[in-house]
Amino acid sequence: MIPTRASYRDIPLYSPAKKPCRVDLSDNTNLFGTPPAAERVLRGASLRSVTHYPAGYSPDLRRAVAAYAGVAPEAVATGCGSDGLIDSAVRAFLEPGEVLAFQDPTFVMVPLYSKMNGVKAAPVPLRPDFDIDADALLATGAKVIYLCSPNNPTGTALSRAAVERVVERAPGVVIIDEAYAEFASGPGFLDLARTRRNVLVTRTFSKAYGLAGMRVGWAVGAPEVVAEVEKARGPYMLTTLSEAMAIAVLTEDQGWVEARAREAVENRERLRGALVALGLKPLPSEGNFLMVPLRGAPKVAERMRERDVNVRAFQGLTGVGDALRIGSGPWPLLEAALAALRESLR
Ligand SMILES: *Cc1c(COP(=O)(O)O)cnc(C)c1O
Repeated sequence: MIPTRASYRDIPLYSPAKKPCRVDLSDNTNLFGTPPAAERVLRGASLRSVTHYPAGYSPDLRRAVAAYAGVAPEAVATGCGSDGLIDSAVRAFLEPGEVLAFQDPTFVMVPLYSKMNGVKAAPVPLRPDFDIDADALLATGAKVIYLCSPNNPTGTALSRAAVERVVERAPGVVIIDEAYAEFASGPGFLDLARTRRNVLVTRTFSKAYGLAGMRVGWAVGAPEVVAEVEKARGPYMLTTLSEAMAIAVLTEDQGWVEARAREAVENRERLRGALVALGLKPLPSEGNFLMVPLRGAPKVAERMRERDVNVRAFQGLTGVGDALRIGSGPWPLLEAALAALRESLR
């Protein structure tokens, strides 16, 4: 036996049920095609970008994000997906054995990052209205608190009052994961990252921006917070190509991204109508997906996969129970999913 890290023994590899399906609504990615500027960069790419190292910390993307977010470049970190940034922040601000508090349910990767970094997970149930319980989160005493709005997998957004209460009283850093900000009706919490000492807002190019395969995320926070995240992150987490594609989409494709996000939201609500007509009760959503509480959801998802449609199933989620999470996209895909769901419910 090779000696291994004891705390790693029960860490599973990430493997959502992934038989390739004709219609895949399981990842909440942009299903409307490749952003035009990204395609242009890819086709015109120099072979030098293959053989040479990229810049260590993506300075060009940092500047582009800073201009977009209205902050100085020192207030921006980039990473291998926003996943990489969340992982880095946990490592940067917590010693092994300390506590990471987070709303429950939330992003499945968060409890995993607590294990991977040897910290204690303190899940705090969302309230019945799907807002955070600010005082219960604070009562954990955790030096890092993770919030997610709009939240994956529920789709629900957090209230300004509750988030501000946490930020004002937290003893350490508050991470606000805004992977779905582009689909939300409200302004989000980027202003808190600009003005508070202890807030790190994370965003991603994987969802509305259509670059999930390129693995690019960014975060904004006070320069002292960002500097620690960059240390934990390490150099060369982005490739030359992924950095160039992210810059191009951010600066040239904003119109494309916004139009596709609007369409995803319109189709999400059209899908809601059809699900309600089936007698289901999807949760309110500010993301590009719907969470549909449904007893026996894993079995239903399996039957849908047999019909070439992939959606994400959850079992026994806190306050929700079993549920399907169905991504939004072009209407014909959602129509196919509805047909498969109707047959699978029989
Ligand atoms: C998809 C998602 C992310 C994005 O992860 P990347 O690593 O940027 O692809 C982050 N947080 C949540 C809640 C997500 O659903």
